[in-house]
Parts: sequence; C-alpha cells; structure tokens
Amino acid sequence: MRTKSYAVPAIDKPLEYYEFDRRELTDTDVELDVHYCGICHSDIHTARGDWGEVEYPCIPGHEIVGVVTRVGGNVTKFKPGDKVGVGCMVNSCGECEACKRGFENSCFKETIWTYSSKDPVDGTDTKGGYSTIMIAPEHFVLPLPSSLNMAVAAPLLCAGITTYSPLRHWKVGEGSKVAIIGLGGLGHMGVKYAKSFGAEVWVITSSPEKAEAAKSYGVDGVIPALTPWLATRDH
Ligand SMILES: [Zn+2]
Ligand SMILES: [Zn+2]
Repeated sequence: MRTKSYAVPAIDKPLEYYEFDRRELTDTDVELDVHYCGICHSDIHTARGDWGEVEYPCIPGHEIVGVVTRVGGNVTKFKPGDKVGVGCMVNSCGECEACKRGFENSCFKETIWTYSSKDPVDGTDTKGGYSTIMIAPEHFVLPLPSSLNMAVAAPLLCAGITTYSPLRHWKVGEGSKVAIIGLGGLGHMGVKYAKSFGAEVWVITSSPEKAEAAKSYGVDGVIPALTPWLATRDH
C-alpha cells in the first residue's frame, strides 16, 4: 500500500516528506489508518544514531492510534472500524520463556521494534507511525475504548505504559509516597497515574515553570533540583 510519511533521510538531516510501499498484510496482521502519532524522545535518539546505527530513511513513531481498515484472514480480535493503538514493538518470537510470560519486550530471540528493526516477514526495516498507514500483527495491536479521545490517547502507547507499569508493579496506591523526577513526557503521566491511584506525589524538578505545572496537576509538593548541567545540554 502506497503510504505517505515523514522520514529522517540521514543522521544529520531533518524530517522530510517521503512515500513508500507498506508490505501486504499477513493472515495475522491488522492494517490501520493512522490518525495520530505521539513524538517520543526515542524517535530523536534513534534517528540521530544515539543508540547505534540505523538505516535511512528512518520513519519514527511508536505512539500510534488509528482506525482499523483491513484485517488478515486469521485475525479474531479486530474488525474494520475499530479504534486501536500500536506501541513500541510489533513482533517477537512468541515462543521463548519471556514471550510466553507476556514479556515480549524482553524476547530471548529478538524483539522487533516498531521502527528501525528488521521485519521478519519481508526483511525490510520496520517503519513507524509518522505515516498514514500502519501494519502490525494482531498480538501487538491494542484496542482503544471508543469513548477515548484518540489525540490524547497516543502518548499512552509509550510514555503512558512506561510509567504505568512500574507504578502498578510496586502496587502504588493509598498510603504510597511517590517522587517523580522531571515533569516531561513521561513524568507528567506518572504524576497523573500516581495521583489517580491515591498516592502522595512529589515532583523533583529544576524548572520553576514545571513546578507550577506540577501544582496544576495536584501534586502534594515540589522539590527543587539544582542541575546546572541541564542548561548546557544540546538536546
Ligand atoms: Zn517512546
Ligand atoms: Zn521470544
């Protein structure tokens, strides 16, 4: 399927318009019309080669929400018209101990990330959600409640789960005291989750503006952090 996208053409170049052909659906794949995609700092790290060499053009984006357009013959959980999301990974071996336990992100063989991984189906680079059409195996597609605002749901797919998971793992709730370091894309979600679980929540930040933002989210306190190195970082 002809797909429009924004791609990074080289390690030192900005995003630019790019068209490519998405591979065809397999029997277990879901195709979606991408409505929104969050921007995660991992997109920038990957595109800039911070985490190792990648092939260009690189099409980032792993906070993807959209509406199902087609499904493979063996797909049972989704049908055209469903609101869905795709997060950071789109495949894994499905057979190792990690996969069997639901830790596909730690697959002993290989986790296939949503972009800049090798797609086991056709051997090409996976291409993310800065694009109009997305294809992923049913197992890696998540249903979205139809009542959810799709635009604000997108960051749940990476920043959201990254903060939700540890808070749930440590059973944060009434009586818990949580400190969130930094009120960025992840931090502000951590604050919202922890507050909604009933915890006492403090934010540690070096930014007076973010201290104010934290208070607007109802945090119980802000601890100023003195980190002069932040002011000299280039990204
Ligand atoms: Zn991310
Ligand atoms: Zn595995």
